[in-house]
Amino acid sequence: MDRQTEFVLRSMEERGIRFVRLWFTDVLGSLKSVAIAPAEVEGAIAEGVGFDGSAIEGFARVFESDMVAHPDPSTYQVLPWREGGRSTARMLCDIRLPDGSPSFADPRYVLKRALDGAGRKGFTFYIHPEIEFFLLRTLNPPTPLDEGGYFDHTTLGDGTDFRRDAITMLEQMGISVEFSHHEAAPGQHEIDLRYADALTMADNVMTFRVVIREVAVSQGIHASFMPKPFSEHPGSGMHTHMSLFEGDTNAFYDAADEYHLSKTAKQFIAGLLRHAPEITAVTNQWVNSYKRLVGGDEAPSYACWGRSNRSALIRIPQFTPGKTSSARIEYRAVDAAVNPYLAYALMLNAGLKGIEEEYQLPEETEDEVWRLTDRERQAIGIRELPRNLDQALRLMEESEVVAETLGEHVFEYFLRNKREEFAVYRRQVTPWELERHIRVM
Ligand code: GLN
Ligand code: MG
Ligand code: MG
Ligand code: MG
Repeated sequence: MDRQTEFVLRSMEERGIRFVRLWFTDVLGSLKSVAIAPAEVEGAIAEGVGFDGSAIEGFARVFESDMVAHPDPSTYQVLPWREGGRSTARMLCDIRLPDGSPSFADPRYVLKRALDGAGRKGFTFYIHPEIEFFLLRTLNPPTPLDEGGYFDHTTLGDGTDFRRDAITMLEQMGISVEFSHHEAAPGQHEIDLRYADALTMADNVMTFRVVIREVAVSQGIHASFMPKPFSEHPGSGMHTHMSLFEGDTNAFYDAADEYHLSKTAKQFIAGLLRHAPEITAVTNQWVNSYKRLVGGDEAPSYACWGRSNRSALIRIPQFTPGKTSSARIEYRAVDAAVNPYLAYALMLNAGLKGIEEEYQLPEETEDEVWRLTDRERQAIGIRELPRNLDQALRLMEESEVVAETLGEHVFEYFLRNKREEFAVYRRQVTPWELERHIRVM
């Protein structure tokens, strides 16, 4: 038995754990969970736990529906909202087929494969996300919990104690929080996680959304990660800060450069900019995601970059003098309802493609790109992000980077599922249309 397994067994004993939940993620980014008894844990770590995968989104074709969940003992954590009498712990799982080979449907495997590729080039990929979400009194209609605005200090009961409870719980689960504040819209909050390697961070984002929902339920309110619940307010993004390290050295840092960015960083940005339209179907995967990317409210709609340009897709955050690890880039398209495993894999490979093929970084855009005309934007080589899920899927379909990164199974499944989503959406007659057109003649 290895040390991690020993640690898990000892902790279960000491903490009086009654259930262990095995967590994994489906292709669309929903968390799945199966509970096992403590007595089963040792065997589960050694051999995995079989389940029928055919009912999980994107997991199996009928003839290969048997799947095995292999819990990763390094992800063992006690669930802080389940203490006292019915204590529960969780571990994240890798999904394999009965013959032991990895499941091509497992998003965690998609990311691991991409990270291995980067590892062979000597790179570790680090992520730090800023996660926005709404706190709501009721879901139908959605009613914001508070009337606060950007960085407002709201009174107790208006989300401030919510953030304190949520952050305490995140820290109890080993997830460090760097920063939190009220966001621009009523009821909108943001919590920024301290950077970690991309696999840990994808696991953390999945845990984060559960913790936020659990704390909301415990306070009799609702939390929503929907990208754009209100027409009249900004949506919820998940700005993603990224850097590549070579050992202990930040490969994005160059002291001599005016942006403190190395050639590697610039090629990585160029790769992201070039492939952004193709990967948007995954970084912004819902019909509703595109209502956030309409221009304005500090959400991007064009593939450009800038230092302080908040309409840009990629922003270069202020460099902290003397702190070389802080040289990084911020990709602002990603929204709060993303599948982090798939999105991180795609952003990584889009960036690496730029390094491999030595893409040239286009000019920085200082202007608010929204104010330019289409022709002006074209003249300086700025491409638009897809305007809706349909356009995004058409671009994804043609993309080699996306096909290679996701693998055939996830690629095909994702396209099929999302085409269906758009087909259903197209048929909807909305209240807006009724109001505008019912009297048309
Ligand atoms: N809510 C904005 C978005 O949708 C971001 C606001 C901000 O953090 N600057 O991306
Ligand atoms: Mg922020
Ligand atoms: Mg924000
Ligand atoms: Mg930001």
